Amino acid sequence: MTAMPNTLVQKHWRPAPLISGSAALHLAAIAAAALRPHAWPWALGAIVADHLLLTAIGLWPRSSLLGSNWTRLPDGEASRGAVAITIDDGPHPDITPRVLDLLDEHGAKVTFFCVGEKVRRYPEIAREIVHRGHAIENHSQRHVHNFSLLGPRGLTDEIGRAQESITAVTGVAPRFFRAPAGLRNPFLDPVLTRLDLQLASWTRRGFDTVSRDPGAVLGKLTRHLGGGDILLLHDGQPGRNPSGQPVILEILPRLLDAVSGAGLRPITLRSALP
Ligand SMILES: [Zn+2]
Repeated sequence: MTAMPNTLVQKHWRPAPLISGSAALHLAAIAAAALRPHAWPWALGAIVADHLLLTAIGLWPRSSLLGSNWTRLPDGEASRGAVAITIDDGPHPDITPRVLDLLDEHGAKVTFFCVGEKVRRYPEIAREIVHRGHAIENHSQRHVHNFSLLGPRGLTDEIGRAQESITAVTGVAPRFFRAPAGLRNPFLDPVLTRLDLQLASWTRRGFDTVSRDPGAVLGKLTRHLGGGDILLLHDGQPGRNPSGQPVILEILPRLLDAVSGAGLRPITLRSALP
């Protein structure tokens, strides 16, 4: 079992309305099939339709229907012109140190959603991220492709081990979780509640892992840029421009200029927690 992080009050999971409704539908379908056996195909059909709906919603990273999900900063920080730049999938031995230098040049603090086993592999870089005033949050232990197909035990293992890896290496426990590729299922929310983690997705992403065009990535991130935005970039497995340069290194200075030019100020996600 993973130890409860620094809280004396056990948080209780409350299912989102869609999950309560889904549970009620299962009970109603079972009762209907028991009372009227010839109705079982309809009852089964209702349950299958419900599962298809829940699966479809799990493929929608910015949805809050499966549980609490930050897609923007809270209103107070948003009105004060704060934005959060989040950088996923690292640390990377070559790219992350260069990202840190670019951030220092602009005096910007950001949030890194790191993969637990990479934090174990590159502990000096993880500690350097925290030493320079940025935050490391939980992006699972291994970043497996079938993350959204895991059950409660698999999810607890992936997230709990990353929590232990990051805390052991940096001395600071993550407060946020982001699902690999943003994909999830109804089992995730109770696991996050138990580990005292807040799910975070994003307001806008630039698709920098697949685009070879830094201008297009920057355009997607800065269109309608405003207070409260959570922006997503990657340093772990970055896309590269035609000359082989990681896209993030090319657009980060321009993004930081656009943020300050709009009168906005980058903050870490955790500094916006109540
Ligand atoms: Zn990722």
